[in-house]
Amino acid sequence: MEVENAPDVTKIMRQILKRTPFEHVKADQITCMRSTGATSRAYARIWSFPKIWQKALAHPPHYIIEVLAHHFDKLRDDDKIRTIIHELMHIPKNFSGALVPHHGRYHRIDRRTVEKLFQVYGVNSQPKADQPLADKSQASSTKQTTKTPINKIRNFLNL
Ligand SMILES: [Zn+2]
Repeated sequence: MEVENAPDVTKIMRQILKRTPFEHVKADQITCMRSTGATSRAYARIWSFPKIWQKALAHPPHYIIEVLAHHFDKLRDDDKIRTIIHELMHIPKNFSGALVPHHGRYHRIDRRTVEKLFQVYGVNSQPKADQPLADKSQASSTKQTTKTPINKIRNFLNL
């Protein structure tokens, strides 16, 4: 397995963090990597940094989001975003270096909850109402989406 830094994935991650309620996630303490030749069937995975390592190395919490080139690179842009949202959801509210499992007592990391955040991402990616749109055809094709308050989303996802 080969790994290298993935600045393109970092860029996707930073866009997500700007447009979704992930205020507890510290972008500077996450490194995005791309691996080739991994045997896993996953598109991506997130690596924890256990407390004992943090203490031993005197290093603050840090995460690695690894995308598996073979699967991730052929995804559509939308699905790349969904994939990274999924990985970010594994980061607990206290940003401790540990990971949140897929099924907890008060939360789920699944297609439905990822989709909810993806919608928020989409709404917050749209041009503001008071900004003129580039041309008319774009205006008519822009789907009207109701803005869901961030608080409601946070409660729904238990973020
Ligand atoms: Zn997962």
